[in-house]
Amino acid sequence: MTRILITFTIILSAAFAFAGDKPLITKHDLAIQFDLENHNFQAEDKMIAMNQDKHFSFIINKDFDIGKIYVEGKKAKYKEIADFDWNLFGSDFESNDSSFFHRTKMIQVKLKKKYRSLESLNMVINYSGTLYDSLKSAQFSRTSVADQTIAIIGLEGIYLSPEAAYYPSAAEKMSMFSAELTTPEGYLTVTDGKLVLHDVNMGKNTMRWEGEAITDGLYISGGKWELIHDKAGEVDVYGFFFPEDQDISLQYVGAVKRYLAMYDGLIGKYPYSKFAVVENFFSTGYGMPSWTLLGKEVVRLPWIVHISLGHEVCHNWWGNGVFVDYKTGNWCEGLTTYCADYLYKERKNESEAVEYRRNLNQDYTAYVNSGNDFPLSGFRSRDETFTRTIGYGKSAMVFHMLRKQFTDEVFWKSLQSFYAGNLFKKASWNDIKASFEETAGEDLDWFFDQWVDQPGAPEIHLVKADLSKIDGQPVVQMKIVQKGDFKLNLPVKIYYQDSTVVNYFPTEAGVHSLSLGCAGNPLAVAIDPDFDVFRKLDRDEYPASLSEVFGASEKIIVYPSQGDKEKIDKYRDLANSLNRKGDAKVMSDLSVKAEDIGNSSYFILGTPRENSVYALFEKAGQNLSDWILFSGQKGNFVLMGDSFGGDDASFMIALRNPLNKENSVVFFSATSSEEISVTGKKLPHYGKYSYLAFEQGQNKLKGNWEVTNNPLKVHFK
Ligand SMILES: [Zn+2]
Repeated sequence: MTRILITFTIILSAAFAFAGDKPLITKHDLAIQFDLENHNFQAEDKMIAMNQDKHFSFIINKDFDIGKIYVEGKKAKYKEIADFDWNLFGSDFESNDSSFFHRTKMIQVKLKKKYRSLESLNMVINYSGTLYDSLKSAQFSRTSVADQTIAIIGLEGIYLSPEAAYYPSAAEKMSMFSAELTTPEGYLTVTDGKLVLHDVNMGKNTMRWEGEAITDGLYISGGKWELIHDKAGEVDVYGFFFPEDQDISLQYVGAVKRYLAMYDGLIGKYPYSKFAVVENFFSTGYGMPSWTLLGKEVVRLPWIVHISLGHEVCHNWWGNGVFVDYKTGNWCEGLTTYCADYLYKERKNESEAVEYRRNLNQDYTAYVNSGNDFPLSGFRSRDETFTRTIGYGKSAMVFHMLRKQFTDEVFWKSLQSFYAGNLFKKASWNDIKASFEETAGEDLDWFFDQWVDQPGAPEIHLVKADLSKIDGQPVVQMKIVQKGDFKLNLPVKIYYQDSTVVNYFPTEAGVHSLSLGCAGNPLAVAIDPDFDVFRKLDRDEYPASLSEVFGASEKIIVYPSQGDKEKIDKYRDLANSLNRKGDAKVMSDLSVKAEDIGNSSYFILGTPRENSVYALFEKAGQNLSDWILFSGQKGNFVLMGDSFGGDDASFMIALRNPLNKENSVVFFSATSSEEISVTGKKLPHYGKYSYLAFEQGQNKLKGNWEVTNNPLKVHFK
């Protein structure tokens, strides 16, 4: 199965904090010679270190051999210390910091008296090491980001991340990095910075990448690529792709040029002199300053070049241009999602933008509950669906509400000044607030308090909406209830024969009576039908989807007991793999009791002939033939007017539990045991859909049921 990468992540380097008097390295100039066959390298780091009195200490991978160390050109003595106090190098450790520190040892370099008065020191560290992680099968999806490979040197390619501690590091403070990388001829290398030297000589390839700005960690990649080069104005655009993928290399370079032009105009001048798209030999979707590293198996997926690449380019403004102060919340994923994934929809058409916003609200409604909710100030990076739902989705909606609160002009001006004022610095939500306050000339404490520092989302209920006439003029009178302590600017849309008008009402928690004079005879009225407000939705505002069962707190996965033995086994395997987190009950249809079916969400596997739970739902009022028709013994079916079937076909339909609409029911069935496993594995990637049909593991139909009974909309006779 192809690994599906739906959304990219920006790399976070080991995020340990620093204090003022901790050891500090302000500049690295690395020269690394790779021996790919033996998975090792020889390196020299010419660095500038801030003086530390009698000693200067740094940390490095504990398995490396340290050679000669020079201070101000003279050989220096040093000690290797395996057990050291991490607090020398950081504070407020988080879990990913500890795995980083466990990989390191401390090197304490003795400083002669005559150097102690210098403010900074020129040091040269020689070292060598072997790095060859196994390739972790990192699977990127909306649900999880698996363990990541941190360093590989081999004939298949090179990948070095700062987490491998492959260069000397001190307390976390951003440094300037340059790197001169030597590989066997035929291999190329890429990292941050500007390519200032590319030399092939005596069977060796040497490339020097000169640092352009400080950054919080350096990634290096290498491979047997072909290089293409183009220009976007002053900016060098490179494609580093494997020989068989040169056609897409051109396509990616062209797309990068368009994205650079778009964000230059929207936010401010691109901060680097190059952008490189690099094809990786294993599965990644990473964005680093001035380059992106994309797994070979995803580069041909259409949405990578149309959405994900733009997202990564945009990270050069948000995350890799203005850096994130993680301790007060990672704002960059929400802002990048808004300026990339969302904005592309909006530029296509308004209905796709509305659907995108609805999905963000819907995901929050489905995946977040009082037990796992947290404020945006607590978001670091996504590792689970609910962290992504908040850190990307809610965050993007907060930027949308800022835009709606003011005008497009104020919104983009504020972002432009935030960018200009914080480029190459670590910035926080507070800096964003300050830019908006200054541009808009308003105090925004209330807005950032409720949306960034507090968890949660409001709920809106429409109690009634009546149309009457006052002095011969049509007037709509509505009573609404808002739950949740949020100040909102609530949009109310009136539908006329040929037009719509949106009015905004300031609301808070409580009961509100709204009165709206109409310009003509209104046909209908709806509260926030375009999902401009971040809020928990009523289940009837959106169609049932597969994700509702995945996100349900009480869920039961039911495998069938009737029919083909091999299929039953495959269904049972699928049931167990769908219960990856172990938070569902898995049982045979024979164990399900009719009186219990309203109390949970259900994932029902098999056809009505195979799984007796279908009959229980039919009895409870779920008329399945409204949604899907079965024909013949094999499990062939008709969905949305189209017929599917044959040896390998499958469907998924998601409905609300007829006994309790807060619970959902998903039916999944396949005509062969092969199809059960092939398609079953793909299901988590299709969470937002109401219905799916597959043949031979390929998706043939996907979509959402139409919403027909929106509780926030009233039609007038
Ligand atoms: Zn991102």
